[in-house]
Amino acid sequence: MSEYRIQKTEEEWREQLDPVQYRVLREKGTERPFTHELWKESPKGTYLCAACETPLFKDTAKFFSACGWPAFYEAAEAGTVKEIEDFTHGMHRVEVVCAACGGHLGHVFQDAPHTPTGLRYCINGVSLKYVPPAE
Ligand SMILES: [Zn+2]
Repeated sequence: MSEYRIQKTEEEWREQLDPVQYRVLREKGTERPFTHELWKESPKGTYLCAACETPLFKDTAKFFSACGWPAFYEAAEAGTVKEIEDFTHGMHRVEVVCAACGGHLGHVFQDAPHTPTGLRYCINGVSLKYVPPAE
């Protein structure tokens, strides 16, 4: 865990996050698809890490994906998310975590040929905190 700039004990995270957020961000759970309003809504603004409020994604890179989770084709800036090989559940996937706090966000897939990067960052809505653009 020492690789992350923001460090808290599991106790502290548990106090700060609601149970669903804790399950996803700290225990790498997955929210039920089609349940978070951000899966199909793409309001203008910035999407922060729900755990540490680091800006992770922008509305300009958000696109509609029928998968049932919020989807982006790139991170807000290089290095804001970290990608980790994930071999759990008998699959080879690439996990995406917040580079600042290590919170689990989702996975990235190379199955979006219609986007500029070809990537689909499939992100749990509860891992994000939406902030509208400044006036
Ligand atoms: Zn974070």
